[in-house]
Amino acid sequence: MAQSIITQVTRETDSYTPCPGTVNDKGSINTTPIDTSVKGERMRSHCICHWLFSCFRGDETTPVNSLDAEDQHNSEVETHHSEYLLRPLKAGEPQRKCIVIDLDETLVHSSFRPVPSPDFVVTVEIDNIQHQVYVQKRPHVDEFLKRMGEMFECVLFTASLSKYADPVADLLDKWNTFDARLFRESCVFHKGNYVKDLSKLGRDLTQCVIIDNSPQSYIFHPDNAVPVTSWFDDPNDTELLDLLPFFEGLEKVENVLTVLGQNNSFHSSISSPTQSSPSNSIPSSPN
Ligand SMILES: [Mg+2]
Repeated sequence: MAQSIITQVTRETDSYTPCPGTVNDKGSINTTPIDTSVKGERMRSHCICHWLFSCFRGDETTPVNSLDAEDQHNSEVETHHSEYLLRPLKAGEPQRKCIVIDLDETLVHSSFRPVPSPDFVVTVEIDNIQHQVYVQKRPHVDEFLKRMGEMFECVLFTASLSKYADPVADLLDKWNTFDARLFRESCVFHKGNYVKDLSKLGRDLTQCVIIDNSPQSYIFHPDNAVPVTSWFDDPNDTELLDLLPFFEGLEKVENVLTVLGQNNSFHSSISSPTQSSPSNSIPSSPN
């Protein structure tokens, strides 16, 4: 039984529970058969503008570390990596802020089912069978990646498998924005979720930011997160474009935690593992 290759969330409008690994009626594949944080998604939709505004309001409140999450992490998480995930900085190399960027439903949406006008079609082999994966780019992703690459050290970090995500990244990253690509094996499997543990990057956490549609992905470091809403196919979505001014401001701050951490209460409201079911989760069979 093959593992799923793509780690996705389902739409909040989905009202049924798909069987593991089956193609759902929206054409998405390998989605988790678990409720996907509907309440959290809605909250993020409503709060993202307020969140962006409040980040730079000048509040000097000291960020609150997520001690509970870190304690859980230290005690319960299986550690699969003893070395840092990113290459060490060279002597004298200036450290740009490190931006960890998610793939599925943050930059693209992919499906096994043909869509009218996919931006890419990649072939992925599963159990010796070639499958076509239809990939649609989120609106403004090109402009977003180009500008982000100019400002930051950018890392693609996805819980999907490299045999899917790597060819997608080859086609998506025409600006060579990504300085590194990290896949599922670099995640920590924690309470049914693939978590992206920023402490394993080998970078100063005061200089790290993660952009992800799934709060469970950054449950260990909510104060480093910039949440985005899950994107599936809305052609009028402008969230990536809207984020650019925010990141242009963030580039100039000394410590990202002083900006992002003050919104800790917001993150807590959407990322509590007890509030909602995982939205990126257990590997499942494609058939
Ligand atoms: Mg995602």
